[in-house]
Amino acid sequence: MTEVTAGARVVPTIVELRALLAERRAGGASVAFVPTMGALHEGHFALVRRARELADVVVVSIFVNPLQFGPNEDLDRYPRTLDADVAALTELGVEFVFAPSVSEMYPDGEVGTRVTAGHVGSLYEGASRPGHFDGMLTVVTKLLHIVAPDAALFGQKDAQQVFLVRRMVRDLNLPVAIEVVPTVREPDGLALSSRNRYLDPAQRVAALTLSEALRAAHAASGDGLAEVLAEGAAAFGDHDDVTLDYLVVVDPATFLPVADDARGEAVVLVAASVGATRLIDNATITLG
Ligand code: AMP
Repeated sequence: MTEVTAGARVVPTIVELRALLAERRAGGASVAFVPTMGALHEGHFALVRRARELADVVVVSIFVNPLQFGPNEDLDRYPRTLDADVAALTELGVEFVFAPSVSEMYPDGEVGTRVTAGHVGSLYEGASRPGHFDGMLTVVTKLLHIVAPDAALFGQKDAQQVFLVRRMVRDLNLPVAIEVVPTVREPDGLALSSRNRYLDPAQRVAALTLSEALRAAHAASGDGLAEVLAEGAAAFGDHDDVTLDYLVVVDPATFLPVADDARGEAVVLVAASVGATRLIDNATITLG
């Protein structure tokens, strides 16, 4: 018998996706969901591979959500590579690619109802990108209601996003299991990001400062918070084209900054601009 590999099916409307998934569910299939903004790379693929292990049907959404971009951010120039994305997702055995238009997701233009991320949503990424996390949580809520998956997968690369999504799912009793996948990196340590393609060769080298800062923070973790912050910040000392936005150490349970004498597991968050490109990264450490 010849095996026919059907391509991943691109579904542009909510009605159609719901009908297709209802059919698969009626046949007993479980569903795992990977929300993305496209321009897919190995970081996204790690989420998709894990999703394939978890469920019979994998849905990947590709939607550059205007609601989570500020007025001076890169919404218009954010990379859009739908054909290549769909080809890669077909190889990975994804059944449905939900790729709605902005008007499909926001038919009334401005949304009246939003999910708010609260105080933690105003810190770190939220301080630099006001409204970002409300926009992210709002679209994730909409997508979870549209797909109604058994499991949804997120990358540890966006640690604050993971914290806020997990808390929202708990706070609002959303019936979905959240699965987190470790950060995928280039061999030299740079965390994969769709925005890395903005970097020219010199900036690509400079971008390593973020992962170097995390490595330095990790190496200093036995000596306490002050050392971690000093060593992490020192990594940014000798790069003119890299501007540190924040380097903070937070408690994974609350996502608030740890106390000066904190011990135990903590998360180091770092954000910096390399030229016009804003990059983030994080690492888990044990403060001693
Ligand atoms: P994005 O397309 O940037 O919105 O990312 C979609 C999902 O992929 C999010 O859950 C991200 O955290 C995750 N992701 C992005 N980059 C990586 C990476 N380098 N490693 C693991 N997950 C990632």
